[in-house]
Amino acid sequence: MAIVRFLQSDSDITISLRKLNVFMLIAAALISATLFFAMRQTKSMYEDAHAITQQLRESEETSFNLQAASDFLTEECRLFVVTGEKKHLDNYFQEAFVEKRREKSLELIKSKYNNSTAYLELQTAMNGSLFLMVMEYHAARLAVDAYGYNIKDFPNEIQLVQLPQNEASLSPQQKGDIAKAMLFNEEYRRQKKFISNHMMNCVMELERAIWEKQAEVADRLKSTIFIEHVLTVLLIAVLLGIVYLTSRLVIFPLQDCVTLIRKDEKIPVKGAKEIQFLAKTYNEMREANLRQREQLNFEAMHDKLTTLYNRRGFEKLLDNLDLSEAAVLMVDLDKFKSVNDIYGHDIGDKILVKVSKTLLDYFGNDGHVCRLGGDEFVVVMENTTPAVQDQLKKQIDLINKKLKAGADGLPPISVSVGVSFCNGHKNVKSILKLADASLYEAKESGRSNVRFSTEPET
Ligand code: GH3
Ligand code: MG
Repeated sequence: MAIVRFLQSDSDITISLRKLNVFMLIAAALISATLFFAMRQTKSMYEDAHAITQQLRESEETSFNLQAASDFLTEECRLFVVTGEKKHLDNYFQEAFVEKRREKSLELIKSKYNNSTAYLELQTAMNGSLFLMVMEYHAARLAVDAYGYNIKDFPNEIQLVQLPQNEASLSPQQKGDIAKAMLFNEEYRRQKKFISNHMMNCVMELERAIWEKQAEVADRLKSTIFIEHVLTVLLIAVLLGIVYLTSRLVIFPLQDCVTLIRKDEKIPVKGAKEIQFLAKTYNEMREANLRQREQLNFEAMHDKLTTLYNRRGFEKLLDNLDLSEAAVLMVDLDKFKSVNDIYGHDIGDKILVKVSKTLLDYFGNDGHVCRLGGDEFVVVMENTTPAVQDQLKKQIDLINKKLKAGADGLPPISVSVGVSFCNGHKNVKSILKLADASLYEAKESGRSNVRFSTEPET
């Protein structure tokens, strides 16, 4: 479920890049190690299959050796009987008692397949061959007599053959004929067939056993190759997962970050935990920076003592006001210097704050109150015509009444005010100059007073 939610674009699941990396690394390492192990298994199974085939070839050769040796004995005995050449019988005994290919073959098969059907079949073939040798000794004995050899010159196996009475009394020619007949007759051939049948049975048994082994190896090989395929797909999936997650958790969020940082905008907190931490830190720094900038802006435009607009703020304000029908009130405290001298600067400051609040009380709703510096204030009122002159005078009188009362423990004070009405004029300098002149007049006429001037109509 968590994965499904994560795959949704608005997922709120937070993934740590470090943990994800470790997880992916372990997964890739485990899959690779298993894949490596499976590949080694495949290699060893392939070698097994090869060895089994080799073994089959060798065992077949070994089994055929028995047949070949048996055929060799038959051949040499027959040649002796037919040609009378002794060397053939020498070859015969050389094979039977020195070379011993049949015994060696049997021994080899026994060592590999003892008690197996193949071994029993080969042993039966061997017994058949041994049985044939009795017939061959008999035939050879007759041939020795037929060719007039001295029996003492032949091995014991020939010497010990006891000819029956009816054969012993025959002529050499007759003995030779019987010997030949013995090695070519039906019974001899049947016995040869018996040997070759059992030898073939042995070979077939060997083949069957080896095919069984090979089939088993092939089955294991098939399963291992299947596992290898699965592991390879898994490994590819892990790699694709790494690419996807890196893009989703790092690359795309970072690209978004860069775009938004360039636009000086807030960064959305998304992506990997580390990227989210980066975004949060950036956003906090950006907020602090914005607050600091706002503070600096405010301080640059406002008077610290009264929090009213200062001269800079006033100038900016004028840029944004419609002065076509406006009144500008220049306000200056009367004899403030001496208040400072008598009561001290701190009391002077408190009086400045009091004056600013009083001006805001009376004109704050309809106008903008600013402190230009020192004890000089200005009020700008939009949409105001000379028609309100009397009303303004009343308000200023009330202000002076209040400031002179000194009910709050502060020394009494008064203000002189010079008012100019714009009357369609937008030249700020001349309007201010006119207000200044009116203020001068108010001062001149005894202070705590107001004087008005109006720009001539355009
Ligand atoms: P006038 O009636 O002619 O205006 O007389 P005045 O004594 O008020 O003269 P003026 O306006 O020239 O003097 C302004 C005085 O304001 C001078 C200075 O002592 C005082 N002042 C200026 N800035 C501050 C301030 O920030 N705090 C205090 N306490 N006094 C200030
Ligand atoms: Mg003054």
